[in-house]
Amino acid sequence: MSYLALYRKYRPNTFDDVVGQEHIVRTLKNQISSNRVAHAYLFCGSRGTGKTSIAKIFARAVNCEEPVNGSACSICSACKKVQEGSSINIIEMDAASHNGVDNIREINEEVKYTPAVGKYKVYIIDEVHMLSTGAFNALLKTLEEPPAHVIFILATTDPQKIPVTILSRCQRFDFKRLSAKEIEDRLAEYMQKEKIDIEDQALSYIARLADGGMRDALSLLEQSISFYFDETITMDKILYLVGAVDSSVLFEMIDAVTAQNTQKALELCVAVNRLGRSIRQFASDLLEHCRNLLVAKTTNGAQGVLDYSQEYINRLIEQAEAVSAQELMRYIKHFGELEYELRNAISPRILLEIAVLKLTKVQMDSSKESLLAKMQFLEQKLEQLEKEGVKAAYSMPEELQRTPLKEVVPQRLPKAVPEEVRELIKKWPEIKSKLGKAAWSIFETAEAGFVEEDIFYIVYKNGMDVLVNAHLEELKKAINEEAGKEVRVKPIHADDYAAKCIEVYGSHPEQTDDIKDISAVIQNVAAKINFNIQVKN
Ligand SMILES: [Zn+2]
Repeated sequence: MSYLALYRKYRPNTFDDVVGQEHIVRTLKNQISSNRVAHAYLFCGSRGTGKTSIAKIFARAVNCEEPVNGSACSICSACKKVQEGSSINIIEMDAASHNGVDNIREINEEVKYTPAVGKYKVYIIDEVHMLSTGAFNALLKTLEEPPAHVIFILATTDPQKIPVTILSRCQRFDFKRLSAKEIEDRLAEYMQKEKIDIEDQALSYIARLADGGMRDALSLLEQSISFYFDETITMDKILYLVGAVDSSVLFEMIDAVTAQNTQKALELCVAVNRLGRSIRQFASDLLEHCRNLLVAKTTNGAQGVLDYSQEYINRLIEQAEAVSAQELMRYIKHFGELEYELRNAISPRILLEIAVLKLTKVQMDSSKESLLAKMQFLEQKLEQLEKEGVKAAYSMPEELQRTPLKEVVPQRLPKAVPEEVRELIKKWPEIKSKLGKAAWSIFETAEAGFVEEDIFYIVYKNGMDVLVNAHLEELKKAINEEAGKEVRVKPIHADDYAAKCIEVYGSHPEQTDDIKDISAVIQNVAAKINFNIQVKN
């Protein structure tokens, strides 16, 4: 018995066999029934959604002598010819390998002749976005004035790459990705026909992995059947085959990350590696899992968005409750980056472990998404301190204390006008060079801020109010000397400066840098608090 691959065996032959594209099938059938067939169609959609299959079914139907409700009758002579494979009215071309202008010119020549039998010559051009510019121009000529007996069906996964001139001459159909449920139901039907024993859970997993493409689902199923010939196909076997882990591991990993349990998370990495499962698949599953958690959290498990069983969605909702949406975004960012980095990684395990470390040890994460987590970490630590009754004993490090700042208004020299103050900002490096060693070390990282009326702002970082105050007089002297005028000098902390900028300008000019600075400050405070806790213990 000759063996036929599943996806070929179960390729839809009639409109009724088609899964999931009801909107398209219905329109096409109506067009055939009412004799309103167009001359150019564009079928868009990701791979495995049935574009070529529907194109062929349509091509047969338009040539059928007695179509039944818009479908080919399969008994007339035109239909018979197609079944025997001797119909010359359906011409397929793969634009991926035939993308030149000559290939299209050949078609342009051919279309002049009416078909010997049947009504239409149907040209199916697959991957049409691969055509060269010259080829598109040549095709456009025919599309502008198509002979009455010709139909073009252009199929593509990438409609953005098709010139507008072509697009505007086609009837466009967008093929939707199939839902996991649609794929699963159809697979179950085939497996029953094939008398193959497979667990529902395994089928449903394959359907989800296929990500909307029936062809991928069938090839994966095919592989599993050959690998586990004459055995019951279980979920575990499928997981082994694709190198994936059971979803419980994904739940455990996110539990560990949320609890900031580094050891447990690293143990899971080791386990996945030891089982010989693919780290790349694991990263991509974790990413998908976090996305599902975020969706579950923000939509409260809307089933239309989450293509899973209600039982599984409930598990997602439960886990999502323990994490904030912002934290989930941070996980998604890291797992997304990890997935990308793993593409060319030589040591995938190490990259996985680093990602897990960043997630569980928020102090090690320098991304701006980690800010909130760091603050939460601080809050928790402070709460812990309070609980342990060491609040009173804990005092802020001196340089972090904020004492009220003086504003310096010099007396004797003539007062500087705003324009002169603005000029001073450019001279900030010269001003700093006039300072003594101690004062210089304080203002070294400070910046000259914007001018509000006639105030010269000194924007300092790292919470050193006490020290700023101590050296303010010296700074003021240097500024007056540079200006030759009396300048109102006001020190301002970077945080307050940012707030003021937003208040005055509506946005902060250096948002990203500031976030880095704030992040550094928070990290310092966290380290100090940690240190204090250790001392107290
Ligand atoms: Zn027929």
